[in-house]
Amino acid sequence: MFSKVLIANRGEIAVRVMQACAEMGIRTVAVYSDADARALHVRRADESYGIGPSVAGESYLNVDRMIRAARHSGADAVHPGYGFLAENPDFAQACLGAGLIWVGPSPEAMRLLGDKRAAKRLARETGVPVVPGYDGDAQDLNTLSQQAETLGYPLLIKAASGGGGKGMRIVRTAEALAEAVEGAKREALSAFGDETLLLEKYIEGPRHVEIQVLADTNGDVVHLGERECSVQRRHQKVMEESPSPALTPELREEMGAAAVRLVRAAGYTNAGTVEFILSPEGEPFFMEVNTRLQVEHPVTELVTGFDLVREQLRIAAGMPLSITQDQVWLWGHALECRVYAEDPARGYLPSTGPLLLFEPPSGAGVRNDSGVETGDEVTPFYDPMLAKLVIHAPDRPSCLERARAALRRYTVLGVSTNLSLLAAVFDAPAFRAGDLSTEFLDQLLPELATTSDLPDEAVLAAAGWQLTARTSDQRDPWREGGWRLSGQERVLRYTHEGTELVVSASERRNTFWDMLLGGAHRRVGFERTGNSSLLLREGARTWHANVVETMDSLHIGLGGSAYVLGKARALTADDAGRAPSALGGRESLQAPMPGTVVKVAVREGDEVEAGQTLIVLEAMKMEHAIAAPHAGVVAKLPYSAGDLVTAGAVLAEVRE
Ligand code: ADP
Repeated sequence: MFSKVLIANRGEIAVRVMQACAEMGIRTVAVYSDADARALHVRRADESYGIGPSVAGESYLNVDRMIRAARHSGADAVHPGYGFLAENPDFAQACLGAGLIWVGPSPEAMRLLGDKRAAKRLARETGVPVVPGYDGDAQDLNTLSQQAETLGYPLLIKAASGGGGKGMRIVRTAEALAEAVEGAKREALSAFGDETLLLEKYIEGPRHVEIQVLADTNGDVVHLGERECSVQRRHQKVMEESPSPALTPELREEMGAAAVRLVRAAGYTNAGTVEFILSPEGEPFFMEVNTRLQVEHPVTELVTGFDLVREQLRIAAGMPLSITQDQVWLWGHALECRVYAEDPARGYLPSTGPLLLFEPPSGAGVRNDSGVETGDEVTPFYDPMLAKLVIHAPDRPSCLERARAALRRYTVLGVSTNLSLLAAVFDAPAFRAGDLSTEFLDQLLPELATTSDLPDEAVLAAAGWQLTARTSDQRDPWREGGWRLSGQERVLRYTHEGTELVVSASERRNTFWDMLLGGAHRRVGFERTGNSSLLLREGARTWHANVVETMDSLHIGLGGSAYVLGKARALTADDAGRAPSALGGRESLQAPMPGTVVKVAVREGDEVEAGQTLIVLEAMKMEHAIAAPHAGVVAKLPYSAGDLVTAGAVLAEVRE
């Protein structure tokens, strides 16, 4: 076995591969770009090497720098993970050329199967069903439209050397073909440097079902069952499970045997995945082979009990498979949820920034493959996947229940995530019934993309966090968002999705506060139980929230949902003083908007301090404090409680 392996990747997969290496007594070498200099995979490795700037093209995709790092470290093998250079036969070749062992198939097998057209031809020759289509050499529009006529519409155009859905176009009518061909060629050329296209019959509403295979250098090949990957957003997988709810034992055997035939014929070694689409009638069609470890490999590990990375390393070291086909059976059910730093409601816009809190759930049957920890930075340079939650349970219904419950314990603060979207999938009857297609999630999303409701519990948690700040704390609510009205009463103001919220709180005994929020009175106790952990008590009920406070906001984690409350700047006397006024200068205190005077806190002739609240105005269902701009004497107080005032009305005058 190797003594040292370089992992030519980052994030969760680098960490995952290192874990298998560590278990096998292999030392690990990480590589990192500038943006990743302090990343988790660097912290987990035995040693690490910088390979260049943050942009992947100059670091994780740079073959020369990768090889140099491997040589320098004295590694004897390279594991590519997935993505980046994992399916690049030239990189595999370069590793071999540098005397390093490539943990993957031979460059020849990668080339053969990486070419969608060659792979389809091989599939046909080995009796593996393929989607009807055209994969010939002639690429002129005439030939393509003739072929399209024979195939019939709708059809799918794919880039022969494509991946990640690039260059793919659905064409529904003959009239639309020419333009789609032109666009696909352009996209394919710029993305893959090859404008060769192929045509496929477009299967409406299919499932994506793939078979995991392992092949050693002795020619032994096994398959480890299937993964159903139909929950996709825009042709990108989001949730994967095994076994597929759509496969009978007979179909599993048939597809497994077909996958084994294909990789055997290709002279393939190491781990690979043979992807099929399954028509709504349950007919499988070969799509392509992924010549690497897949993101979703853990679901197969959980149902089969085998460690795929360990097998990959063994195979690469020339050892025989430790698995025979008759040792493979699928026990129970496994499901993976990919946790992305993105905002599903805003077109899956990636979200970047510091991870203020990253707390994945734990418990029986819960596995976390994470690439980050609390305090890490999510940068815009790479795929926004943070981690994978992988659940195992005795059967599909209990697996779904376990996964749903685990998502409720998943806390990520600081960046937006798809956690609520993942949770919502479990409420969809079609998902529960296992009635899936690759269109399922895109159809479901419009129903889900409503604005998130803000529960009172989250607002109470924010207020409770600020109220329990020690006075020596820099983030003293007295100084930032709140102020005294009288005695022990405090008012905290927040903004949430464009609306403002006001909470007032009066301290009682034993950490209990009388809270007024949205017109409701509640007596709640608050206790900080950790750096970002708050217990709330009301009557006999106690519940927990995570809270992280920053300069301008409070991030609340509650029951698997995350909320961000902006700290509304206290309406200070300065603001009021700066309001346009024909009547006065800094002494004039004007109503910022029309409203009702609810409280006059001082009397004419009183001496007041700077910042002291003089009047409380209620406007737009919220309270606004009007405070003294400077110390002085209250000269005029033209209004009393209950009076209606117009915007700009001078509510008080304070003379120095
Ligand atoms: P890429 O290599 O770009 O990821 P694939 O060939 O793997 O492209 O296809 C990606 C996804 O596109 C599949 O998971 C499936 O959802 C869809 N797809 C591919 N081929 C077809 C087809 N012939 N009919 C319908 N959907 C397809």
